[in-house]
Amino acid sequence: MLNRIDLRGSTRDPRGLLPRAQLDVSVAVEQIRPVVEAVHEHGFAAIRDATQRFDGVTLERLRVPAAAIAAAADVLEPDVRAALEVVIERARKVHADQRRTDVTTQVADGGTVTERWIPVRRVGLYVPGGLAVYPSTVVMNVVPAQEAGVESLVVASPPQKENGGLPDSRVLAACALLGVTEVYAVGGAQAIAMLGYGADGADESDRCEPVDVITGPGNIWVTAAKRMLRGAVGIDAEAGPTEIAILADDTADPRHVAADLISQAEHDPLAASVLVTDSEALAAAVDTELVRQVASTKHAARVQTALGGEQSGVVLVDDLEQGLRVVDAYAAEHLEIQTRDARQWALRVRNAGAIFVGAWSPVSLGDYAAGSNHVLPTGGCARHSSGLSVQSFLRGVHVIEYGQEALRDVAGHVVALANAEDLPAHGDAVAVRFS
Ligand code: NAD
Repeated sequence: MLNRIDLRGSTRDPRGLLPRAQLDVSVAVEQIRPVVEAVHEHGFAAIRDATQRFDGVTLERLRVPAAAIAAAADVLEPDVRAALEVVIERARKVHADQRRTDVTTQVADGGTVTERWIPVRRVGLYVPGGLAVYPSTVVMNVVPAQEAGVESLVVASPPQKENGGLPDSRVLAACALLGVTEVYAVGGAQAIAMLGYGADGADESDRCEPVDVITGPGNIWVTAAKRMLRGAVGIDAEAGPTEIAILADDTADPRHVAADLISQAEHDPLAASVLVTDSEALAAAVDTELVRQVASTKHAARVQTALGGEQSGVVLVDDLEQGLRVVDAYAAEHLEIQTRDARQWALRVRNAGAIFVGAWSPVSLGDYAAGSNHVLPTGGCARHSSGLSVQSFLRGVHVIEYGQEALRDVAGHVVALANAEDLPAHGDAVAVRFS
């Protein structure tokens, strides 16, 4: 079922040889540019048009009434409520520990530099809602922003025909459980443009004010719009179609490996599921298991497309050392290690959005209830970016405070460097204080 890539005996850099979707975000940027520009210029009218076109919903208002958010929590199934409460509590525990403390460094007698961690004022959190709906993503966006101390926090999520043009009711219920009251029934590129530029709504009370930072995963159009808005607002790492890589040896259980590959393929026909192994026997057993398990999975068509796509496959390696080089080159959003001494191998991984160690830490656990964040960098961005965290909503600002003697002590050095850079007015600004 999976494409086979045999790297045994290869000494080449594996990067170009690995299965990865050729997702050209720049093409999508050109496709959604008119939508983003129209929202910037015309606000509500353009958002209505795009929503009609892409979601098949006629929007009366942008903002979800407070009563609808509260009502969604009232009708939430008890088991989903209990699950969300546990998930919120665990996520809060982990993210509270990520809070930064200000650090003051005494650089010289009477001279200090303090790094102050200041939350951004207003953030827009995107919660996808096309092929699937994600109340869990509400938690993963909102909790770190709240723990960072963000003052104003808004959620945007696509309107659902089945819910009368409001976002999914479980998404709304998750907002209610987290105390989020500003929610917009807008999805796709038009939502990102609305958050970034702000937009008038049906009336004065329906206006969305622009935000400072936009976070959250989404499909290629959401990603493209975020790329367009980057700079005008802060954007988290690109979190596109989901990916799982599994580094496994002959000790892995093929039933578990197959189930985990399927679990991520279920997100999206563009999702990537990659097995890296030094065991031919495991690769063959996983293939057999995939055929068996896919036949009975609910979203079989989507899963089959994802598993059979160019972005998925099994990579055969000589040994786990080569496997490690492969997974580092791939830089998966989610990396599972299902080997002997899994913890030791995990310690040596450099590039991954999140690492799941051993047989009892499947990616599904991290998708919901591990306490970790599931908004993670995809498409190889894990080489340079981290997943969503409290840090995503903070800026470190240096506060410099020197007294007269501390400045006098270093004045000569400032003047020397200012002259060397032919910027004598810089030196003068110090010298004038002592003349
Ligand atoms: P989405 O909310 O990202 O996209 C739906 C929106 O796309 C719709 O509201 C619609 O307005 C717009 N749209 C649909 N067709 C369009 C078109 N032809 N042109 C322009 N816009 C169009 O929801 P989705 O589609 O289900 O995608 C969610 C993605 O997020 C999946 O790939 C999933 O794997 C990923 N995801 C990632 C993470 C993570 O942490 N990395 C977490 C959850 C979900």
